[in-house]
Amino acid sequence: MKNGFIYTDAYLDYDYGPTHPLKIIRLKLTYELIRAYGLLDLPAVQTIIPRPAKEADLAIFHSRDYLNILKQANNGRVRGSAYSYGLGPGDNPIFPGLLDWSLLVTGATLQAVDFVARGEGEIAFNIAGGLHHAMRSRASGFCYVNDPVIGILKLLGQGKTVAYIDIDAHHADGVQAAFYGTNRVLTISLHETGYTLFPRTGFEYEIGEGEGEGYAVNLPFPPYTDDEVYVWAFEEIVPPLIHAFRPDVVLTQLGVDSFYNDPLTNLQLSMIGFEKVVRRIKELAPRWVALGGGGYDLSNVARAWTLAWAVMNGIELSEELPKSYVEIAAKVGIYEKELRVGPPPHSQSKEIRNEVGRIINYLKKTVFPKVGA
Ligand SMILES: [Zn+2]
Repeated sequence: MKNGFIYTDAYLDYDYGPTHPLKIIRLKLTYELIRAYGLLDLPAVQTIIPRPAKEADLAIFHSRDYLNILKQANNGRVRGSAYSYGLGPGDNPIFPGLLDWSLLVTGATLQAVDFVARGEGEIAFNIAGGLHHAMRSRASGFCYVNDPVIGILKLLGQGKTVAYIDIDAHHADGVQAAFYGTNRVLTISLHETGYTLFPRTGFEYEIGEGEGEGYAVNLPFPPYTDDEVYVWAFEEIVPPLIHAFRPDVVLTQLGVDSFYNDPLTNLQLSMIGFEKVVRRIKELAPRWVALGGGGYDLSNVARAWTLAWAVMNGIELSEELPKSYVEIAAKVGIYEKELRVGPPPHSQSKEIRNEVGRIINYLKKTVFPKVGA
């Protein structure tokens, strides 16, 4: 069985703007670190160059009106109504080629989905994907097109059951909204609580509606939650639900803005906790479509997704970063030389542990019986 890594340097043709926190260069750095460790030369690895999706692929989720606006915005300009679709200066800037960028990222996710669904391989990783905030008719949180939703819809169309696990620091609001009323997709989002972070949703009591009641799962963490409490909560909630739901495919969003030094968020994860979670997902996922996500410290992104790709391939990496990568990274002001840069020493407060324990118990009482866990 092969594992597919989806990547193209064509991502670098696009730019959210000089002051925007989402830097597309992070994808190139990740690719370079993966390559430098030799993780694209493994016999079981296939590198796949993505093709752009077609507009019709986007239309299985997004509205016609919204797609028309994105088409106009692709030239870098739109008429006045763009604001009502979430576009404009700020989080979702109108930059030249934004629809082309979205088509390319979504195409990469669809190729990852096809690779796994056709049985060409067990795992595919699209580091550019995971743009989980986009809504049917609205751009949000740096996301214009919701590639996870489109990937999941494609899998549903082939009769597959899908579990979605999202470990980005932000709530997976767009994906949750798309499947809130169905029991054909189990969505699980672990994130910093909406009391302190965008998009201000994802509370434990959001559990789905109608047939979907129990199939939307939210595990919100207080600011400063660290590896120990995070991994404990993941273990209490995620494996029992996945075992009960028995998905054909697990689709994950592996955002790394949950790290202690991420500039946009307040969680306290490190590479150690992230690695534990990724290892656990590998054990749980019969077929696995892995997507990227948030991550605003460039060095974290490259190191964490390289580690994730190593875990996917059952490879242990040396702590010392390869020299060829260190030289490339230095050109963009990154001077770290080690893979696992540790978390700052601190002890988790009792209040945080108690609050997370309360949420775990709440989910065990409400969603576990619905899903049969
Ligand atoms: Zn995020």
